[in-house]
Amino acid sequence: MDRSPEIPACPFCRIVTGETTAKVLYRDDLVTAFRDIHPIASTHILIVPNRHIGSVDDLDAGDKDLVGHMVLTAKQLAANEGLSTHGYRLIMNNGVHGGQTVFHLHLHLLGGPLARFAMR
Ligand code: AMP
Ligand code: ZN
Repeated sequence: MDRSPEIPACPFCRIVTGETTAKVLYRDDLVTAFRDIHPIASTHILIVPNRHIGSVDDLDAGDKDLVGHMVLTAKQLAANEGLSTHGYRLIMNNGVHGGQTVFHLHLHLLGGPLARFAMR
């Protein structure tokens, strides 16, 4: 994995590499998906790129396929969780004012009746 040595403590890099345990639901060459440690809805899953990218602000045109893959992975996980009928939310917080607290890009998948009220 392409992990920069100056960011050894990134919690999501550590989950991607398996140094930290998490409830991993899906993994492929590009992304890893795992359950949020502090869920705010009955389904709360994070989809992260395996490569360390700090935030949306660090994306460039070469990352189009990766970002599309993150969204399509979220769609598949939502189906797996039985969320397709009633819907779900996808959220990407960006930067401090955007509410981002872990600076490794991630897509929140929130489902269940409380999803619409979460993160407001
Ligand atoms: P954000 O505020 O958008 O940066 O979201 C970061 C999310 O990461 C929060 O919902 C945290 O609960 C979650 N989180 C932080 N550390 C872990 C971890 N080790 N395993 C799973 N989720 C985590
Ligand atoms: Zn990272």
